Amino acid sequence: MGTRIFLFEARRLALSAGCGMAWGAVTSQWQQALFVFLVVLLLLWGWQLARVYHWFSHPEEFPPIGGPGMQGILHDVYVLRSRAMQATSSSQRSQPYLKESLASMREAALIINSSGGLLWCNEAAEYLLGIQFATEEGRRLTETISSPSLEEYIEDGNFQKPLRIHPGTGSERCLQFEFSKFGGDDRLVFVKDVTEQDRLERMRRDFVGNVSHELRTPLTVMKGYIETLQTLMPASDLTLHKSLRVMETQVERMERMVADLLWLSSIENIEGERKEGRIDMGALLSELISDLTAAWPGKNLELQISTSQEIRGDENELRSAVSNLIVNALKYGEDSPVVVRWIDTAVGPALRVEDKGPGIAAKHIPRLTERFYRVDKSRSLATGGTGLGLAIVKHVAVSHEAKLFVDSELGRGSCFRLVFPLSRMVTSAGSAGASDQR
Ligand code: ADP
Repeated sequence: MGTRIFLFEARRLALSAGCGMAWGAVTSQWQQALFVFLVVLLLLWGWQLARVYHWFSHPEEFPPIGGPGMQGILHDVYVLRSRAMQATSSSQRSQPYLKESLASMREAALIINSSGGLLWCNEAAEYLLGIQFATEEGRRLTETISSPSLEEYIEDGNFQKPLRIHPGTGSERCLQFEFSKFGGDDRLVFVKDVTEQDRLERMRRDFVGNVSHELRTPLTVMKGYIETLQTLMPASDLTLHKSLRVMETQVERMERMVADLLWLSSIENIEGERKEGRIDMGALLSELISDLTAAWPGKNLELQISTSQEIRGDENELRSAVSNLIVNALKYGEDSPVVVRWIDTAVGPALRVEDKGPGIAAKHIPRLTERFYRVDKSRSLATGGTGLGLAIVKHVAVSHEAKLFVDSELGRGSCFRLVFPLSRMVTSAGSAGASDQR
């Protein structure tokens, strides 16, 4: 299309110049003639532009007729504009029907515009959120429900995950917001009161956290007694020493389990928080690999960094997820080499941890991230596993909007991939890639 327009306009210019020069040759005043023809051509262009401009402000009219190149562009603009107008009018036509259906729902439903101004809400929303629609129409939702997280969520515009908030200060009440884009720039919002569900989840988390915490002291005491007994018992009593060693191993395993449970419950407690630290994954991986190489001296552990991409996240959580994946590859990969890669993919930066160990049968893969799920219990116990490593990885992945993929084949090894979304990338300007990429 671009070439066609260029050729058409070039021809027109050449023709005008030719006519001007021919007239100039006849009248012997070719400079003036050329000037007159070029001025006429410019006026023609100006007139055409004025007609196009007029058409832009009168969309209901047909596009003006222009040259063949221009005509093609105007036709395409006309088709696109007609489609957009049709979509808007069909969305406007469907609004009354939608509002009628939503009005009778028990769940609170609202329609807000892109800046959060209230356009409509049903009775349930008036009741749940204390809105008086008749007097509050057009008012920003965040003026009615005071919550910085709701304000950030609306501004951010990423509605993949629902938002839970406790409106007001020190409130027990928990509301869950689900946003979806609707009718161009508007948003359809469903709000649920999830106070009871939130309370039960908190109780479960607190229970696990408290039990784990309470177990720490008796375990430390037991470990102390085992150590004392080991020094007091005569070295000749092999059976007793063997029993004490078993006790020591089990206590250490329980200590690791308690530590993992406490860590899991602490990351669950801050799940909704924004993870915005700037993490240099290359540096984090290099540090981890050098620590693990020192801790597993006989293993072949290799790091390949093919991107310098930094991401936004929580350093401790990312460190624990990555370390769990690498330690698993070292533990279960037998003596095979373990290769850790930090790479760029089409969907975002990714971590790959690959081993050539015995692999995992397909039937186990969907359950690997369940708490305490083990493929081979005896092997896992022998390697000191707690059964919580991949549950932690999954949790960290969810709180960073990342995805965990497991590719494994029996006898060929396993590859665990943690793929981060483009929105977690740190752009060269130092800010999140979110606004650019979404
Ligand atoms: P654990 O603490 O028992 O290692 P995880 O949650 O980290 O628990 O792992 C769950 C199970 O997944 C392990 O018990 C093990 O059977 C299996 N697994 C994890 N990583 C690998 C791997 N790289 N190769 C083979 N099996 C693995």
